[in-house]
Amino acid sequence: MGVDDFVGWARKERQGLVQQGLWRGLHVQPRSPEWVNFSSNDYLGLSQNTTLLEALKESAARFPVGATSSRLLVGTTDAHAAAERALADFVGLSSSLLFASGYAANVGIIPAVATAGDGIFSDSLNHASLIDGCRLSRANTQIYRHREVDHLRSLLDRSRSSFRHCWIVTEAVFSMDGDEADLAAVAALANEYDAWLYVDEAHSLGVLGPSGSGLCSDAGVSPDLLIGTLGKAFGLAGAFVAGATPVIDLLVNRARSFVYSTGVLPALAGAIPTAVALVSDSEEARDRVRKHAQTIRSALPGAASGSRSAIVPVPLGDPDRAVSVSDRIRERGYLAQAIRPPTVPEGTSRLRCVPISSHKYEEVDIFVTTLLEELNA
Ligand SMILES: *Cc1c(COP(=O)(O)O)cnc(C)c1O
Repeated sequence: MGVDDFVGWARKERQGLVQQGLWRGLHVQPRSPEWVNFSSNDYLGLSQNTTLLEALKESAARFPVGATSSRLLVGTTDAHAAAERALADFVGLSSSLLFASGYAANVGIIPAVATAGDGIFSDSLNHASLIDGCRLSRANTQIYRHREVDHLRSLLDRSRSSFRHCWIVTEAVFSMDGDEADLAAVAALANEYDAWLYVDEAHSLGVLGPSGSGLCSDAGVSPDLLIGTLGKAFGLAGAFVAGATPVIDLLVNRARSFVYSTGVLPALAGAIPTAVALVSDSEEARDRVRKHAQTIRSALPGAASGSRSAIVPVPLGDPDRAVSVSDRIRERGYLAQAIRPPTVPEGTSRLRCVPISSHKYEEVDIFVTTLLEELNA
């Protein structure tokens, strides 16, 4: 097959997605946007924090910019060690390990701890990186209905005994729905059925729990593995896993996205302790984000979920309608991107509204009014 055929194939695929209202493109964000952004995960505004920027500059001056190899060869510096100490302490677990991204963490870690003969029980709305990690693991993966602890129990009841080891895998705050897992109930089931607990705290760290230490911490649950990402509330990039020291040491040997990948930039790692300290100290910002989210949630009938997270979905169903509402509010100065399949299930396209701490109270109020007008238009 020649180059032309291949490009022709890509064009045809594109056409199919366009017809379904599912085509997505990259849009370079203007440096001084004409809209207020309700689509980032920069909950505490740290991506623009001057203290963090200074820490990054200092770190870049002190450490090599690039890690130059896998961490297992010559890629480990004291910047990595200090960052991993700070992150483990932050979530109250013994050790932690940095990954290039949350995606890399989940696809590398799950196959390192679960394999053929094991069982994984996974929430139906788990993030793509968790789904892909389960697929790569070759464990028998069973999907329980979103947040339905009773369904999880019935699956465990039916099949726990046919597996050697079992994992329950869940997000703490679900990334596209903003609702919370009932971690106390899930942990109790893990205990009862002798399963291990894997919790992805991508959207809860920094926002929920004591000093922003997440929902496990808030619920008094100690997961066997906890995943956090550094590109959201921490304002940087990368991710980490935390757990007991022998487990983390094993992941150094077995997690393929760690072993076979160049280490996180030392210059970046050097700024992580500052990001952790800033997140811990951001009580006022956390409070503001949660108030903003509450304002949006309570104004939108379908969106109330009792969640404390900063993510407020506005269900619209049809992808074209989601895009058109998003376009219309952007014209009026507010950015809330449409989220469509395959990111969310068929028929559940939505706007995903995420307030951040630097939004002013009036801005959030006007955003809500604008949104309601366009929803009813
Ligand atoms: C964003 C996210 C990830 C991926 O993290 P990146 O660092 O952006 O790759 C993983 N899990 C969940 C639940 C997420 O929301």
